[in-house]
Amino acid sequence: MTHILHRSLRQTPPVAVGGAGVYLYDSHGRSYLDASGGAAVSSLGHGHPDVIAAMHRQIDQCAYAHTAFFTTEVAERLADRLVANAPAGIEGVYLVSGGSEAMETALKLARQYCVEGGEPQRSLFIARRQSYHGNTLGALAVGGNEWRRQPFAPLLIDVERVSACYEYRGRAEDQTVDQYTAMLLDELEAAILQAGPDRVIAFCAEPVVGATGGAIPPTPGYFRGVRALCDKYGILFIADEVMCGMGRTGTMYAIEQDGVAPDLIAVAKGLGAGYQPIGAVLVNGAIVERLRAGSGAFLHGHTYIGHPVAAAAALAVQQVIERDDLLTQVRLRGAQLRAMLDEEFEDHPHVGDIRGRGLFLALELVRERAHKTPFAPELKLHAAIKARAMENGLLVYPMGGTIDGRHGDHVLLAPPFVVTQGDLGEIVGRLKESVEGALKTVAI
Ligand code: PMP
Repeated sequence: MTHILHRSLRQTPPVAVGGAGVYLYDSHGRSYLDASGGAAVSSLGHGHPDVIAAMHRQIDQCAYAHTAFFTTEVAERLADRLVANAPAGIEGVYLVSGGSEAMETALKLARQYCVEGGEPQRSLFIARRQSYHGNTLGALAVGGNEWRRQPFAPLLIDVERVSACYEYRGRAEDQTVDQYTAMLLDELEAAILQAGPDRVIAFCAEPVVGATGGAIPPTPGYFRGVRALCDKYGILFIADEVMCGMGRTGTMYAIEQDGVAPDLIAVAKGLGAGYQPIGAVLVNGAIVERLRAGSGAFLHGHTYIGHPVAAAAALAVQQVIERDDLLTQVRLRGAQLRAMLDEEFEDHPHVGDIRGRGLFLALELVRERAHKTPFAPELKLHAAIKARAMENGLLVYPMGGTIDGRHGDHVLLAPPFVVTQGDLGEIVGRLKESVEGALKTVAI
């Protein structure tokens, strides 16, 4: 028996031994077309020579220097570059090692900002039901998955929850999109007023929902409304772009397409593109200034913040995205993949919705389309699709979750930005086979 505590404590997954481009290989010589980049991580595919060379150079030069003593040129350059491409007002970057750390850091920065502004009574976050923000205690607390939180509930900070912007499930038939958006914003305002506006630290949301819903984009104007409410009540807006950021939706940050600037943005996954564990929080200048003028320090820190090799990988990823014009590529391939999914699944009796942005797309599976009836959770359709896909040499990211008593099965696609049109055809073909195969295994 393995000594690693794997995701399943009962099963050991296949052993990955190699990767090249959009493929991963296991120890039995099987190849897998990576259509989800793990969990929207491997944006440049596997074995990218430029990223690997940059990491080698950094290891040779200086593999590690503790940030209590030093900064490094590579970390400074990465931060400069992230700020240069960030939404308006972002002036600071705090480098961490992953997505949960990034969210944890954003929550603490937001709280310290309130305390140093003479508002220590602000102690509450507002977040959305369809959301995943990570697994450490703070990030878990703001996340929407009740079943994930439940065993740890007594350990978690105070969070109010509102509906996510989830048009397929949330908009009534007789509602226009604008009316639906206005309803959600009313709900958020009511939650702020109910909590007491001067008690709220921040509102947290994923601009395009990832793991808990499957690439759910907001309606037009939703985030402009969120920004206006946050401004009205002096509440910070934290955008969790851990999954949807770093080019995945066709712009460097997903929120750019909604025309607003958050106060704090958490990124990870595509930042290091899987070559190194790295995340970051991008911080609005007003927050940086208040802390600089106040205590002069952020009360936080980890041993590996600003790790030079991780920074070198992330910097190289940024350079490759720019040099190879990969954001244009994401928009092009995203549109092609979307068209192929529409063609293959639009009339499928068990595909209720096809959605997403850029190369961040998903199918929502339903037992019955007219009433959007989900499959029973115990059927674990998403798990059957994942297993079937792996048998078919395809990696997709299926999820099933029950939020507010409502279950949903989704398949998330987030292929590398370097995917070709031929690869996309192969992905959709194998996906179709996998979905059909899995549907046969569950009693319909
Ligand atoms: N936020 C979002 C939106 C995520 O998708 C994830 C990971 N799935 C996290 C935070 C947590 O990131 P990590 O797993 O790197 O801690």
